[in-house]
Amino acid sequence: MTTKYKPSAVQHKCECFICHRNYTAGLEHHHMIPGRQRKSCDDNGLWIWLCHECHRKLHDKGEHDAEIRALAQRSFIEQMKKKGYPEATCKEEWFRIFGKFYE
Ligand SMILES: [Zn+2]
Ligand SMILES: [Zn+2]
Repeated sequence: MTTKYKPSAVQHKCECFICHRNYTAGLEHHHMIPGRQRKSCDDNGLWIWLCHECHRKLHDKGEHDAEIRALAQRSFIEQMKKKGYPEATCKEEWFRIFGKFYE
């Protein structure tokens, strides 16, 4: 499967992130923080593959949404820490871009 997106920072397998069903085709691209922050998600690799069923449940019913948002936040902060920023700065930067903390 080819993609124009920056590689995911949280997922290295081409399978549904939630149910781990392996698809050769039909996986969908989910921005971990949907809405206005889609672009920031792409820039930071904060996206995952989902099968159609899990993707629909996530958007319709919010299934796993909270944990996936929290994971995006952790991943973003980890990426910044690896570049040498102190934790407080990483958190500020997350908040500046995404406007909310997810725990
Ligand atoms: Zn699935
Ligand atoms: Zn989605």
